[in-house]
Amino acid sequence: MKLPAFEYACPTSVSEAVALLAAHAGEAKALAGGQSLVPMLAFRVAAPTLIVDLRKLGELRRIHVDDDGVRLGAMVRWRDILDDARLKAAHPLLVEAVGHVAHYQIRNRGTVGGSLAHADPAAELPGIAVTCEATVAVAGKAGARTIKAAEFFTGTLTTALKPDEIITALHLPRWPAPRRFGFVEFARRRGDFALAATSLFYDADTSGRARNARVGAIGLADRPLRLTAVEALLEGKAIDAAMMEKAGAAASAAVDPVDDIHASGAYRRALIGTLVERALAAAQR
Ligand SMILES: Cc1cc2nc3c(=O)[nH]c(=O)nc-3n(C[C@H](O)[C@H](O)[C@H](O)COP(=O)(O)OP(=O)(O)OC[C@H]3O[C@@H](n4cnc5c(N)ncnc54)[C@H](O)[C@@H]3O)c2cc1C
Repeated sequence: MKLPAFEYACPTSVSEAVALLAAHAGEAKALAGGQSLVPMLAFRVAAPTLIVDLRKLGELRRIHVDDDGVRLGAMVRWRDILDDARLKAAHPLLVEAVGHVAHYQIRNRGTVGGSLAHADPAAELPGIAVTCEATVAVAGKAGARTIKAAEFFTGTLTTALKPDEIITALHLPRWPAPRRFGFVEFARRRGDFALAATSLFYDADTSGRARNARVGAIGLADRPLRLTAVEALLEGKAIDAAMMEKAGAAASAAVDPVDDIHASGAYRRALIGTLVERALAAAQR
């Protein structure tokens, strides 16, 4: 299907991009990898009068790793994350999750900022951002601000971004090396959006008990979830088979997914229990 007609701009700086969006407030859309926006244009789900292509903003294509954590520029692509050897140590949970995003061709184009702004409730990166208490850096007409990931996603395909704002980066807090983690998802076919997935981690204390547990889930609500009841259950406990089973049951009890064309709510509720159990087992590696 042909795209609707639109004006096109390709700014060379963040301030220029923001000025273009502000001048066409509500009528303009940023373009990153195009993997979600172009189909939305084709299906007439979006019909902006101006497309602001971000591809010349090289400053947004950087991955920065330091003692504070990992900073992913908004134009960093899935492929960049998978190819960056530093990230395997600096944020192994991120790398594992991104390996599940879409298909090879889409991973070559899709970006961090595009995924966050698109805010699909089953997308892996928003889930990682919420589980890891990341912050989203944005720039707009009124200047720069940061938004906690938990406050950034406000509903299905909806975020706290204002019409004149673009995402500039995602900051994931430092990942202590011995941290235990698991990412497990279930999709009908590899590369499809997940029916559900969980990302979790904890730091094992000297007696091997879980500390600082974080458990997140995607595909179960209109936005990524933190399963705080499961986190509380795991805190200070040895993660043996009995605890994994209890955590799975607690995860199922903590969610209330609705029926849709892909699966019933009851199926997804059962599924997340199994996924949490498996992710805790994976964390024992
Ligand atoms: C067949 C298929 C399967 C897929 N499977 C998965 C999957 O399993 N998991 C998954 O997570 N994703 C999946 N995707 C989506 C893919 O990861 C997209 O790349 C991603 O959601 C959007 O990124 P993009 O860079 O292509 O953004 P675009 O398509 O260019 O933009 C998407 C939206 O974000 C906005 N936007 C883009 N960049 C910015 C920015 N910096 N600031 C503000 N707004 C911005 C655009 O205006 C638009 O509204 C799939 C896509 C397809 C086509």
